[in-house]
Parts: sequence; structure tokens; C-alpha cells
Amino acid sequence: MDFRFSEEDEKFRSEFRQWLDANLAGEQRKNPFALEFFANEEGEEWEKRLAWHKKMHAAGWIAIQYPRQYGGRGASITRQYLYDEELNRAGAPQLVNSQGIGLVGPTLMHWGTEEQCRRYLPKMLAADEIWCQGYSEPGAGSDLASLQTRAVEEGDYFVVNGQKVWTSDAHHADMCFLLVRTDATAPKHKGISYLLVDMHSPGVNVRPLVQMTGDRGFNEVFFEDVRVPKKNLVGEKNNGWLVALTSLMYERRAREMMPIVHELAALARLVARNGSNAWDDSRVRQIVAQFACDARAIRLVGLRQFTRQLKGLPPGPESSIQKLAYSELNLRIQKFAMELLGSYGQLAYQAPFAIDDGKWSYRMLAARGMIIGAGTSEIQRNVIGERVLGLPKG
Ligand SMILES: Cc1cc2nc3c(=O)[nH]c(=O)nc-3n(C[C@H](O)[C@H](O)[C@H](O)COP(=O)(O)OP(=O)(O)OC[C@H]3O[C@@H](n4cnc5c(N)ncnc54)[C@H](O)[C@@H]3O)c2cc1C
Repeated sequence: MDFRFSEEDEKFRSEFRQWLDANLAGEQRKNPFALEFFANEEGEEWEKRLAWHKKMHAAGWIAIQYPRQYGGRGASITRQYLYDEELNRAGAPQLVNSQGIGLVGPTLMHWGTEEQCRRYLPKMLAADEIWCQGYSEPGAGSDLASLQTRAVEEGDYFVVNGQKVWTSDAHHADMCFLLVRTDATAPKHKGISYLLVDMHSPGVNVRPLVQMTGDRGFNEVFFEDVRVPKKNLVGEKNNGWLVALTSLMYERRAREMMPIVHELAALARLVARNGSNAWDDSRVRQIVAQFACDARAIRLVGLRQFTRQLKGLPPGPESSIQKLAYSELNLRIQKFAMELLGSYGQLAYQAPFAIDDGKWSYRMLAARGMIIGAGTSEIQRNVIGERVLGLPKG
């Protein structure tokens, strides 16, 4: 297999790398929360991410895969891949609006009207409108199709009542892509619709949920007689399950784990173990080497997915394999970091005397969420068992 890229693609890579080198100061590259869900989503941290996003946007470096008429560069899949590699290499701050650009944007381009695309996509890319995902409910998570939030037609509007939960970024959001039940009598997958809801509408109430990291990255959202114009329906009424699945397909994408393995190796060189440096212990080196092998395997599965896309095929079950593998590897890495840190692992993020500013204890607490968000490990195993291995349904 030939892993080399064409000369033009390498030229693109070096153009982006040069732009990053010229525009991203060294101190901005220290991004301890490089993985999703590892972001202090409030106050100064959010403002920094927003400012960085807007700078990238002004230079045309946001959502390069989007068509030009919506603010992208119409970039090929190969260039998206190189773009992600360069962002990772640079240790750039996280961008904002991932639920918008990553999930609802592609869904609108597939299912939405031209008017909806023109209305929402440019503002999404500019981060002038932040989006959140209104799927999960107290009684509907893994079994999402059991959702109970209702929308009833009244003239030119749907009137929405119900509750969503674990809604990431709802406290920043201007818009929500919301799953609602529009036919309570139909089989559960058949009576669902996909609406675009203005979060500033009367009757929308956002309440923070504080996580064990101390952050309030996600929320409960209550809808009480919220009026949503019918033109905000995506796809057909009662056919929202298929629209929702399109967004989900984009949610379980690849993550590059090797940078965290390198950070772990650096930690092992920093801390003491049995009277000498932890890195001098061959067992420590073997464990880190195994993590590096796993990270490499995840990258190769990602390349397999990339090959599928190059052939014009839709995302396959590789996305479930990757989601399962990287989130479980991340947990194992964080647990081992705690072992290396010993009693220093008890010190919270940014506590005095904490090693590496306490980022490992923060990451340890955040690692559990990663195993749950975007579909739990058990659900990914079901998908792999049924769709890859052809096992009977459990
Ligand atoms: C960090 C984070 C961010 C999130 N952001 C959002 C968001 O922005 N918007 C949103 O809508 N939701 C969001 N979620 C919610 C997430 O999608 C749900 O938590 C997830 O789908 C699991 O649903 P649940 O919490 O209701 O657990 P449940 O579905 O009740 O599952 C409980 C346990 O049972 C297991 N289980 C359930 N069904 C099966 C089965 N068939 N076979 C085997 N085991 C099973 C699960 O694996 C789990 O261990 C987020 C969650 C997290 C952790």
C-alpha cells in the first residue's frame, strides 16, 4: 500500500502548516485538553477558543470540506485528512461549534433545502451561531428512538414540549437540532421529526449539569410550548429518524491518540518510581509501547475508513471500531498516568504542586464521559458484533 500523497496535496499541507506557524504563537499550542470533552467550556477558555476559531475562519481555514458557496474550500477528502493532521501536529486550541459544523451541517447538505443551507451554514462556519444537539432524554439515550419530546402542529408552527439532557454547549447555543415525536401512534422509529430550533425562543430553559471535573459542559434543556416555524423541519415530517442517523454517522469519527502517548512517555521521564526514574523501569516502557501500538492501529483503521470515503462509499462500521478503541485506550492511558503519579494523582487540575498542572487528574475524570458520549462502548460492541462479525442480535 502506498501511503504517499500527491505533490499538490503536499503543497496544500505546507501552505496550511506555514499559516499555522505564522499565526499560532508557541504558548497557544499548550492545549492540555486536545480531545473532545476535554475542554473547560466556560469563561476565558471558551473566549480563547472562539477567538481562535474566528481567526481561522477569517483566513478561510474552517470547514475546508464545505462547498465554496457556504464558506468552505470544497476541499477533497485527502486534504481534510492532511488538514486534521496539521492541526494535531500544531497542538492548536480546539475550535468551537463542532456539533454544528461536524454534525448538522453535513446533515443539512444531505436532507435540507437550499434555503436552509444558505440561511444556516455560513453563520455556523463563522461561529456567529453556535449549535447544540437535542437528542438524549432522561428515558432515551442508547435507545434513542424512545424519545418523548412532543411537537404538535399549529398553523405554520410546531409547538414543542419536553425535556432533553446531556446537551453539550446548550449554554452557548443559538440553535439546536432537535428530535421530536410528531406521531405518537406510529411505531417508535416512524413518528420522529428533525427540527431546527432557535434557542432564544420563549419557553426554552437551559439548566447546567456540573460534571465531576467541575466543568459545566452540558445541560438539561426544557421546552415549554416552544413555537418552531414549519420551515425549520429538515426532511419529511415523521421521517426524522433517517435524518438523525445521518448526523450520528458523522459523530463517531477518528481521533489521533499518538500525541497523548507521547505526553505519557514524557510524564514517565518526569516522575520517580522505586527510587529511580519511572522511564528506567522496563515494565513502564513496555506499557507505553503497547499504548503506542494501539494508537497506531487506530490510525490504520482510520486510514481504512479514509479509503472507503475515497471510493465514494458511506462511513462504515470502522467508525464504531474507532470510537470504541480510542475511548477505551484513552481510559487505559489515564489510569496508567494515575499509577505513575501516585499520590500526586490526587491533586486537582491547576492545584498548587500538581505535576503537569494537574491535567492528568482532569483527564482521568473526563475519560469516563468519552466512553459514554456518541454511543457507549456496549452499543459500539453491539454494532461491531452485528454489522461486522454478523453475530445474531443480543
Ligand atoms: C460527555 C457527553 C456529552 C454528551 N453530549 C450530548 C449532546 O450534546 N446531545 C445529546 O443529545 N446527548 C449527549 N450525550 C448523551 C449520550 O448520547 C448518552 O449518554 C448515551 O447515548 C447513553 O445514554 P444514557 O446516558 O441514557 O445511558 P443508557 O442508554 O441508559 O445506558 C445505561 C447503560 O446501559 C448500557 N446499555 C444500554 N443499552 C444497551 C444494549 N442494548 N446493550 C448493552 N448495553 C446497553 C449502556 O452501555 C450503559 O452502560 C452526551 C453524553 C456524554 C457523556
